[in-house]
Amino acid sequence: MQKMARETPVLIAGAGPSGLTLASELCRLGVRAMVIDRQASGVNTSRAAVIHARTLELLEPLGVTEQLIGEGVIVPRFRVRDRDRVLISIDFRTIPSAYPFTLMCPQNRTESILQQRLEGVGGCVWRPAELIRFDSNGSRVNTEIRYGESRSSVSAEWLVGCDGMHSVVRTQAKIPFVGSEYEESFVLADVRMDWPVSREEVSLFFSAEGLIVVAPLPEDRFRIVAMADVAPENPDRAYMQSLLDRRGPSSATGRIREVVWSSRFHIHHRVAEIPRKGRILLCGDAAHVHSPAGGQGMNLGIQDSVALAGALAQTLIDGDEARLDRWARDRHRVATGVVSLTDRLTRMATLKSTAGRLFRNAGIAMAGRLPHLRSALANRLAELDTR
Ligand SMILES: Cc1cc2nc3c(=O)[nH]c(=O)nc-3n(C[C@H](O)[C@H](O)[C@H](O)COP(=O)(O)OP(=O)(O)OC[C@H]3O[C@@H](n4cnc5c(N)ncnc54)[C@H](O)[C@@H]3O)c2cc1C
Repeated sequence: MQKMARETPVLIAGAGPSGLTLASELCRLGVRAMVIDRQASGVNTSRAAVIHARTLELLEPLGVTEQLIGEGVIVPRFRVRDRDRVLISIDFRTIPSAYPFTLMCPQNRTESILQQRLEGVGGCVWRPAELIRFDSNGSRVNTEIRYGESRSSVSAEWLVGCDGMHSVVRTQAKIPFVGSEYEESFVLADVRMDWPVSREEVSLFFSAEGLIVVAPLPEDRFRIVAMADVAPENPDRAYMQSLLDRRGPSSATGRIREVVWSSRFHIHHRVAEIPRKGRILLCGDAAHVHSPAGGQGMNLGIQDSVALAGALAQTLIDGDEARLDRWARDRHRVATGVVSLTDRLTRMATLKSTAGRLFRNAGIAMAGRLPHLRSALANRLAELDTR
């Protein structure tokens, strides 16, 4: 095993989409960051699949946007339906971006494209390397890392926690993770199926039984995500089919032929009180988690990282930390907005009373007749309102 360096300007814990983006951007800007991940390579799964226009714009300088588009499915439309009835149709073709669509690409593909890019700009990920503990003395952060069978000490000017929802960095820095959890679980499955709706649409179905989302994926697959009170660990074909039958279109339902991958997860809506504490910074799920409604999660993390890379690279040159405080305030504000949007979407989607659902559907259908509102929603979902 290659020996780890003892010092680095920036140590990044976690090589998910947030950590890989941050490391690549820093390398591109001339900062040789060190990125570690406790997992061996190649074990990541499909998970987040939506990439929004703003993320594609921000990844342009890194040179990965074209490849992502080449490997993903371009989807120009997002529709909210109550079973067979379309309540609102949001058309991304109207958004002011060079990428007037949403892109569907499994997270493991996105990560592998980002990792290739990191290697292309001279970086690498140290695996399996787990951050165990750290202490910060004001001018440096001294860390202990379990690397394979051995332990290494690495001293960094800055430590960035891109280590996901259960972040060791956030926990040990004692940064409160404010919010709570949903009672329901989410199930998700990548399937092959006969589906009556166009592959140019992400469909979000409201129903008395709860939410189900169907979106196209590459290789003739579809992603199904649904809320469930009690969810099996690996939902099978029969389970997913029964959800689709009870919540999806009732006139011509889909027929699942094969479940390629499935999982369940329990979600929280939480935001770190502040993503900076001295020399400790947080990006991605370490700083915020929320419902997957609207497909915002991974996008938000990638955007945290692109913004942080610019601020950190400059601070390493001139020592002006005020821009890191500005970054922290901006990203906290954006995360709070996204968490509140996805929470509203989730609560609306899970209304159970008939009166509540009728009222909701009438409200959404009315909003759907107002073009400026549809276009504002498209901009918001595409995350263009944070430019
Ligand atoms: C089953 C599942 C399904 C999901 N589906 C969706 C979806 O449909 N839509 C959506 O928007 N989002 C979804 N998400 C959330 C989405 O995957 C996350 O928002 C996204 O992965 C966040 O990226 P990240 O880089 O911030 O963190 P992560 O992807 O969680 O990456 C964190 C990395 O840090 C590493 N790590 C952790 N601790 C340490 C340590 N101490 N030392 C070193 N490395 C460490 C981990 O191994 C991991 O590679 C899903 C999540 C799960 C679990």
